[in-house]
Amino acid sequence: MAKRDYYEILEVNRNASDTEIKKAYRRLAIKYHPDKNPGDKQAEDKFKELTEAYAVLSDAQKRATYDQFGHAGMNGGGFSSGGFDFGGSPFEDIFGDIFGDIFGGGGGRRASRGRRGEDLRYNLTISFEEAAFGAEKNLQLPRKQTCTTCGGSGARKGTAPHTCTTCRGAGQVRFQQGFFSMTRPCPDCRGQGSIISDPCPECKGAGTIKQKRNLSLKIPAGVETDTRLKLSGEGESGSQGGPPGDLYVVITVADHSIFTREGQNVLCEVPISFVQAALGSDIEVPTLEGKVSLKIPPGTQTGKIFKLSGKGIVSLQGYGRGDQLVILRVEVPTKLDARQRKLLEEFAAVSGEDIHPQGKGFFDKVKELFD
Ligand SMILES: [Zn+2]
Ligand SMILES: [Zn+2]
Repeated sequence: MAKRDYYEILEVNRNASDTEIKKAYRRLAIKYHPDKNPGDKQAEDKFKELTEAYAVLSDAQKRATYDQFGHAGMNGGGFSSGGFDFGGSPFEDIFGDIFGDIFGGGGGRRASRGRRGEDLRYNLTISFEEAAFGAEKNLQLPRKQTCTTCGGSGARKGTAPHTCTTCRGAGQVRFQQGFFSMTRPCPDCRGQGSIISDPCPECKGAGTIKQKRNLSLKIPAGVETDTRLKLSGEGESGSQGGPPGDLYVVITVADHSIFTREGQNVLCEVPISFVQAALGSDIEVPTLEGKVSLKIPPGTQTGKIFKLSGKGIVSLQGYGRGDQLVILRVEVPTKLDARQRKLLEEFAAVSGEDIHPQGKGFFDKVKELFD
């Protein structure tokens, strides 16, 4: 299915203000909210679409990217599911932000019927290269799934749970404390409102079964440690017709033996001998895509950085690529045989200090200071 334009989804024009966007989202979200449309798949899809559109258009930076690149700018261009969002969960932010005042505090906003499934978190460690180039991973997820034998009711096939007589199905009981009348979850049905007298033998009345599930996950190029990939609807099943939760895959990128990363740039320290540094040399340096040769000019100092343009990591947003920075470390030999030593002593005798630019400058200053 082709993705619809975010502005079109929110029914606003392209130069709508933040307030207009927020208002439009609020109006439509209330209309299509799963609480108001239980079991209505179309409303649920609409709601997801709205939330995605709002997550982008309410964020100045994401909105600018979207204005410039369209959907291709939002998810790397290559993903078909559109189920990802990067870094943080706009869904939660939005609920805190917008629904807090409608549903009175966000949490616990759903009554006992049609409970949404739990969100799941999956910690995934990937290699440096997989983070740089993207990867396809097979995950084995333990998660609760609706019991197929009883269809999630928890009651033996052919029977049905009966309404709890203690709370008359409300799931809550009132009690008096001093002057106040308060409620607490019904102790007899544990807040469910119904009691299963003949439980389903398969799930023992839970309505859900823990199962291992295989899921193939496409990791986009450019992810880093703590990037969260959200897979909508891949969390645990909801109970009694409620929608499933979401799955958050939280990435940890393993250290590499020679590369480190700074944003989109790849850093690599390369040792060279003091002779190579003094005379100049062609050396081979490793990159993420194999070795390349690098020309070291004569008189190169330790710490000198060479840039290999475009050899870094691609942007998670799908455009631009970082560089590789090669940091040279000039090494001084730690063991010299008699002949090597003699040659160096001869070298020192014929050179004096004038050939070392920094050293000369430094000792000149010392001289000024004390003379
Ligand atoms: Zn069952
Ligand atoms: Zn009860």
